[in-house]
Amino acid sequence: MKTYPLYLNGQWVKTQKTIRVVNPSTTEVVAEVCTVDRAAVAQAVKDAHVAFAGWRALTGKARGAHLNKIADELEKRRDEIARVITLENGKPLAQSAGEIGMSVDHLRWFAEEARRAYGRIVPHQADGKRHLVVKTPMGVVAAIGPWNFPLVLAVRKIAPALAAGNTVILKPASATPVCAVLFAECVDAAKLPKGVSQLVAGSAREFAQEFLDNPLCRKITFTGSTEVGKELIRGAANQVKPLSLELGGHAPVLVFEDADLDAAVEGAMITKFRNTGQSCIASNRIYVQRGIYEKFLDKFVQQTRALKTGDGLEDGVSVGPLINEEGLTKALEHIQDATQRGARLLCGGKRLKRQGYFLEPTVLADVPAGAACMSEETFAPVAALAPFDTEAEAIERANASPYGLSAYAFTRDLRRTFRLMEQLESGMIGINDGVPTTSQCPFGGVKQSGWGRELGIEGMDAFLETKHVSLGLGI
Ligand code: NAP
Repeated sequence: MKTYPLYLNGQWVKTQKTIRVVNPSTTEVVAEVCTVDRAAVAQAVKDAHVAFAGWRALTGKARGAHLNKIADELEKRRDEIARVITLENGKPLAQSAGEIGMSVDHLRWFAEEARRAYGRIVPHQADGKRHLVVKTPMGVVAAIGPWNFPLVLAVRKIAPALAAGNTVILKPASATPVCAVLFAECVDAAKLPKGVSQLVAGSAREFAQEFLDNPLCRKITFTGSTEVGKELIRGAANQVKPLSLELGGHAPVLVFEDADLDAAVEGAMITKFRNTGQSCIASNRIYVQRGIYEKFLDKFVQQTRALKTGDGLEDGVSVGPLINEEGLTKALEHIQDATQRGARLLCGGKRLKRQGYFLEPTVLADVPAGAACMSEETFAPVAALAPFDTEAEAIERANASPYGLSAYAFTRDLRRTFRLMEQLESGMIGINDGVPTTSQCPFGGVKQSGWGRELGIEGMDAFLETKHVSLGLGI
């Protein structure tokens, strides 16, 4: 079994203490990754600060060229890295390859954006003055990532931070650190100057404290649970540390009677079962207008039964295991709670009788509003459906959540589309589209789903300071 080193200030560093990485399909330990302590993280921040001076001085074009080289490396190693993502996360191999494809696209998008960190000249109102708005990099950025899309969500932070001229330290989730090591190998191969992009692993809480306390760390970008996001907000108060937070979701799907039924079923299936339901933009509750409710259920259950669940490395598998026993237990509790409250279990509902954290893809109908799965993120292949009567009711139920990351609707009515667009309290809205994410559009949530946006031009702006320069020219 391989023990992977960390990447600190351009060096590969081996330590005695390690994290054991478990394959959720087999529960076997598949690799170990070295860890460091808080003092090493403090040193990494210092080194990143030293590297910042040289990196920010490069032109945007030169920084973009580095990002494109990292993308080239990732593309070259697509099959190998996809296999590693499947081994440590469990997702089907094709979805791991898709994650690499999207990571490459993000890198190339931000490589281009590096050339476009535009400021502006603003008309003056006092004689003799001129006003400039300029964008400058922030400094050292700390990035903390989750395990569900372990590569692409790290890249979504690292690529724009580097493009903007900052230096970055990544702390990946402890469940999935190996793909972060392989990404660091791509950074190394792309010959970025030492200290510009580093990788640490170890105690999340201690590292976060260092990032919060260390004045040289100028920004923390975090993807993970709302609970930890709130801890970071509290901790950031001391130094008023800027935070970008991509937190939990609880996406609704609204299916209206005027929708193309087959397209709606297909779209809802993607929102629910992609990444084994372990996606922050996964649908958690599917509301279907009463006139088509039973018909929709029939088709949805039929397609759910056809899903093949298994080890992501097996051919034809479209649903993998949950990440760990805790994730599986939570899903089983949500199913039990819903059925006890009167929901109909239409398929699935049980743990698979094999090694690993597998749950049968599950469909629950007539789920009452009080069921836990209608208000908490299930993060599993469990679809909870309920009927609605009117558009106003659907919007009210969709918005009745402290989360607001993504929402989906299926309808062919253009006027309804505009009403939904304006009234749904959500950072991302897919209309007849179950996969809304794309490099050039902002990704992020409202309410307790987070602060700020990744991707798009907003994703770059999140790592730039905006300065107003007022020039007294006397002309
Ligand atoms: P998590 O437990 O919050 O962990 C996320 C990251 O935070 C990991 O690297 C973790 O490190 C670290 N962490 C844990 N405790 C911390 C602390 N006290 N201070 C600072 N960092 C800490 O979340 P998760 O279970 O990995 O991810 C699932 C959640 O992420 C879901 O709620 C999902 O909706 C959300 N998510 C949101 C988005 C989005 O874009 N909005 C995308 C994906 C996922 P360790 O692994 O070492 O504990």
